[in-house]
Amino acid sequence: MTASAQPKQSKDMLIEVDNLVKYFPIKGGLLRRTIAQVKAVDGVSFAVRRGETLGLVGESGCGKTTTGRTILRLEQPTGGKVIFDGKDVFAAPSSQLKALRRDMQIIFQDPYSSLDPRVTIGESIAEGLVIHNLGSPKERVAKVRQMLAKVGLHPSHMQRFPHEFSGGQRQRIGIARALVMEPKLIVCDEPVSALDVSIQSQVLNLLRRLQGEFGLTYLFIAHNLSVVEHISDRVGVMYLGKLVELADREDLFRDPKHPYTRALISAIPIPDPTIRRERIILQGDVPSPVNPPSGCRFHPRCWLARDICRQVDPPFEEKASGHWAACHFSDKVEEPLPKSGAAATLA
Ligand code: SF4
Repeated sequence: MTASAQPKQSKDMLIEVDNLVKYFPIKGGLLRRTIAQVKAVDGVSFAVRRGETLGLVGESGCGKTTTGRTILRLEQPTGGKVIFDGKDVFAAPSSQLKALRRDMQIIFQDPYSSLDPRVTIGESIAEGLVIHNLGSPKERVAKVRQMLAKVGLHPSHMQRFPHEFSGGQRQRIGIARALVMEPKLIVCDEPVSALDVSIQSQVLNLLRRLQGEFGLTYLFIAHNLSVVEHISDRVGVMYLGKLVELADREDLFRDPKHPYTRALISAIPIPDPTIRRERIILQGDVPSPVNPPSGCRFHPRCWLARDICRQVDPPFEEKASGHWAACHFSDKVEEPLPKSGAAATLA
């Protein structure tokens, strides 16, 4: 399947990712030859509409962060195509790539590591403006002050250094750094995962508000489905380098069509203590992306697995309107789990 198949290709699409592949070579031997490949992203396709938030979720090591980084060409792609605002990102020469990068920003999980401890916050936020030669020094200062206010910090903070801020404040600085470039797309790479729960919702609400104010499009990457549920219009679920489900948020949570998605949803706590949800515990670890299982990559952990699952990789296809999944038995996902001998148990 191609990105043009989901959702329909149109001017509404800001970014279209088609069959994205990213392998990392493993070197070995005296001559440091490539002896194997880590198949971090292995044929991922999706599109994101202008102004929407697409959440990308999955366990650590599923390839979601590599997907985000490769789209921005922070990693060199092994294969596939990315069209951003009508331009081919992977074919862009370095001069055009610089302009594209202005429109495609990223917010990292740990903003502290991306902030130089010897540089003031004002200089860090203005760095992109300097690189792209935007505005006079006076205009840059005014812009930085404006951005600090937009993310809920005081303009006088621009004279301070990163260590003077809390984790939540540093993430606000990371958002200001991205926002100052007036981007069209922001890849939010686990932006709240390192924050206390009480701060997480503040930062998520800030991202939502800024999206409305600036007309931003987000690719929101997280391992926590409840965080993604909070902010996304549509949600994509990744497993071992592949997209296994993609749907509108409500459809995905109400009617998951992949067993892995059902297991992830079952792990979300319900805030009402009188309601108890059966949690599906998947057996075993995520297999190695160096040598993924045959057929459906999820089959060693799937309670629905049958012979065909071990032999044939299920196609990623539209199971209901706008609801895509890669599973031979997507109509059986909501059936009760077998009592024993299954690859997953209930808790
Ligand atoms: Fe499970 Fe088979 Fe569906 Fe894979 S294709 S998720 S193994 S039922």
